[in-house]
Parts: sequence; structure tokens; C-alpha cells
Amino acid sequence: MRVALGALMQESNAFCVARAGMQDFRNKYLETGPNLVGRLSGTRTEMGGAIAELERTGVGIAPLLATHGGAGGIVERNCHQALRDDRLNTSAPFDGVFLALHGAMMAEGADDVEGELLAEVRSIAGSAPIAISCDLHGNITPAMLANCDILIGYQHYPHDDAPETAARAVRCLVDTIEGRMQPVMAVSKLPMLFAPHLEHTSGAGPMVDLDRIARGFENDDGPISAVSYFPVQPWLDVPDMGFAAVVVSNGDVATAEAVANKITSEAWERRHAFEVETVPVDDAIRAALAIGNGPVILADTSDCVGGGSTGDGAALLEALLRLAPNAGSLVHLVDPVAAEQAAKAGTGVTIATEVGNRINTSRGTPVPITATVERVFDGQFTYDGGFLGGVTASMGPSVVLAVKETRVLVTTYAAYEWGYESYRAAGLDVQAARLVSVKNPMNYRLTYPFAAGAFVLDTKGPTTPDLRGLTWRSLERPFYPKDDSVDPRRLRQASSQIDEGR
Ligand SMILES: [Zn+2]
Repeated sequence: MRVALGALMQESNAFCVARAGMQDFRNKYLETGPNLVGRLSGTRTEMGGAIAELERTGVGIAPLLATHGGAGGIVERNCHQALRDDRLNTSAPFDGVFLALHGAMMAEGADDVEGELLAEVRSIAGSAPIAISCDLHGNITPAMLANCDILIGYQHYPHDDAPETAARAVRCLVDTIEGRMQPVMAVSKLPMLFAPHLEHTSGAGPMVDLDRIARGFENDDGPISAVSYFPVQPWLDVPDMGFAAVVVSNGDVATAEAVANKITSEAWERRHAFEVETVPVDDAIRAALAIGNGPVILADTSDCVGGGSTGDGAALLEALLRLAPNAGSLVHLVDPVAAEQAAKAGTGVTIATEVGNRINTSRGTPVPITATVERVFDGQFTYDGGFLGGVTASMGPSVVLAVKETRVLVTTYAAYEWGYESYRAAGLDVQAARLVSVKNPMNYRLTYPFAAGAFVLDTKGPTTPDLRGLTWRSLERPFYPKDDSVDPRRLRQASSQIDEGR
């Protein structure tokens, strides 16, 4: 038995001013053929989990292409075409296909990259079963569901369960190939969007409740194989986006449909619990300093790199240098121009430059600084965990600039933040810092367990938690949170039952 194996992942943000290109994929991982198995085996990626599961069950692997572009703008047309390689055409014979997809990838001319890809894969695979895993921020579309047999999402946010998710999908795939399972799926979807800040799946919170309810339906002896929720990447801006629940059952469509509806109903009931409170930047700095010890996290989540922003928003740096330049703060900014200028000047040299607000110019002008170049390095680091765990990634040529007691890490490229790997690679000790800037809405809760406090900043950008205030082009009304007073039964789209089988 042989299974064709691949991954095409990127989380697109329609409000990002930049396009995503091949460099964004190469900066994380991009492997084909035998290198896919050789280089991703043993990592915390989906491919690591799928390879281990296939090897454990003695199933052969036909490796295709595997890549993750992190999050960013809509993918350039040429890049999208280049990544749609034709290895599946030449991989026969194979008995099934497993693909790790994100679910929220857009390219120029393709709003539903995953749906189009799966339709093409189905046309090549014929009756062979197709299983996919998705990020829980995927937007689940009819084309995706119609062209695969098994669809399973991450259970965890922060996303620390990529290999386990892939392994579960692969187990269902192998059971299907060997005739032990006849997968059917049901979906329920609501035009309901949440900012991701309170979607954590451990501790206490609305997603913790949903996870408990979902897991309660999964039972080795019952008909339900997998219950997945998809609160969706809220900054996609496509017409049919929303919160979906997908249930995979062994032959029982009616139960699957009831469970899917139960999950979205429970999510709707909890919708107000996902509302995010933000703090003006100056107030947050003063409150953070009042805590008295560090590190205190200042989360510039409107410039969230893991949600597709460009990472160059400098509102926090401007305020820190104005209010507390000697507090002992760490700030990370993307600025290829300043990084190059500082690297050319060299270590120990004091330069006058400007940093930040260089790519997304709608947030203000670059911040003028006089800084000493403390370090010049290649921007390489290896992820400790998350869906890139074990992967060596690149921020491109990078520098550390010292402005009084503030340290500014300036990198050429944005990098998805799991923990503080980027600061560590720069030789900066987050635990010794008083204030630490992060550009993620969630992962710091898990990866900075030693933090003395955290504030979500009221800044501007394409990953703002203010979903009511965005100018939507494609998303249709009504949707939550803009239309909170609409009866959920009117919001509910027809719950479609996908039981065409293979
Ligand atoms: Zn996600």
C-alpha cells in the first residue's frame, strides 16, 4: 500500500498591503520528493506526524511537495502556480492521498486555493480516498468538502498539535483504504467571526468549552471519528467565510449532522465571550511599568505576523522611546532598509536611521532613532514548537540596535512567532527584559509562562481585533459581530450534508 503525501499551507490576510511570494515559503520549509521525508521526518509539522504514522503502519510513501508560507498577504499568482506542482500525476500507483492544508489560503485569481487544489487532486486520484488536515483557522468551503473524504482540524490553539492532527487523518485514511471505515462528513457553518485573542483551548474560556463538547462526541465504539471546529482566520474577506464545524463519521450522516449543528449552536451562544479588550499604547506602557517587575508582554496584535501582517508597525517603539527609553524593553520590527543600513555600518557603530512603518505606510512614518549597532547576524533560528517545531527558519539579514536601554531587533523578513526564538537568536534575553513586544494574539500565553503581565495594545493594522471597523469588500452581510441582533436561525446557512461517498 502507498499513500501520496504533501502539504500546501499559508494563511492569507486580505487586508495585508503586501503579496506573499516564494521567499515567504522558502523562509519556513519547502521540500519535494525524497527531501520531504528526509528533512521533515521528526519535526512537529504535519508531515512529521504523517510520516511517523505511515511508517508505523507499514504504508509506503509517495512524497509530493510540502511547504508552509506562514501567514501573509494574498499569494502572488506566479508563486501559486509554481507550488501547484504535478508530482501527483506521476506518483501512481497510490491507494490514497494525504494533504496538509491550511484552509485559509488565497492567491491572486483564486479565493479558495484549497478547494481548487482538491478538485484537481480528485480528478487525478479517481476513487482513491483523500484525507486532509487543516489549521483551525481554515475557511471550510463546499469545494473542499466535496473533494475529500476525511477533513480533520487542529484541536489546539496555540497550535501545538499539527503532527497529532495529521496522524489522526492518516489513521482514518488507512482504515478507509483497508475497508474498516466508510467516511461520511457533515458541516455546519455560521457567518460568525471572532478575533483569535480568546480562542485558547486550554485553561478556561469559550473555546475550552467547545473543545470539551466536541471531544465528548468522539468515541472509539461510536460512529463519530472526528469533530473539528474552525473559528476561521477572520481577516480573509471572502463571501462565504465563517465559523464551521466538520464531523467525520463512519457511515452515520444523521448523527454527524446533529453533532456539527450542536457545535455551531454552542459557539453562537458563547459569541460575546470572544470580545477583546484593548489598551491604548501609552496607558499600557505605564501600567506595565507599574507592575514593577518583568517581563511584561505588550502584544501589538494588530500587526500580528502569524495573522498575516507585515510586522513593521512601529507605534509601540515610538511610544516606548518617548515614555520609557531606559526601561529595558525588547522590540522586534521588520524593516529591510534599516537592517541593511545597520549591517553595512557594522557592529559597534552608531547610526542615525529610521525604522518601521516602512511596508504598511498607513500606520504612520518611520521612527527616527540614533542607535548603536549591537549585533549583525543571519536571522536563522529553529522553532521550539508549534506547527513549525524543529524547522529552521529565516528572518533574513538581521541586526540588534541599542537605543538607550531599549533593544530593537530589526529583521529583513517577518517570521511567524511561536515563542521567543527570534529574540534568542539575536542574543536577547526575554526573561531579563522589563517589557517585551510580541506580534501575536495568543501564542505568548503558552510560550511566556514566566511573564509578569500582558496587555493587548490598541493599535492599527490588518489583524485588528476590531472586526466591526474593517472595510469589508467581499464578506456579505449579515455577519457577526457586525449584525449581532440578527436571529441566528437567519444567520445559519443551509447545513449541507456531504455524503456523496467516493
Ligand atoms: Zn491558526
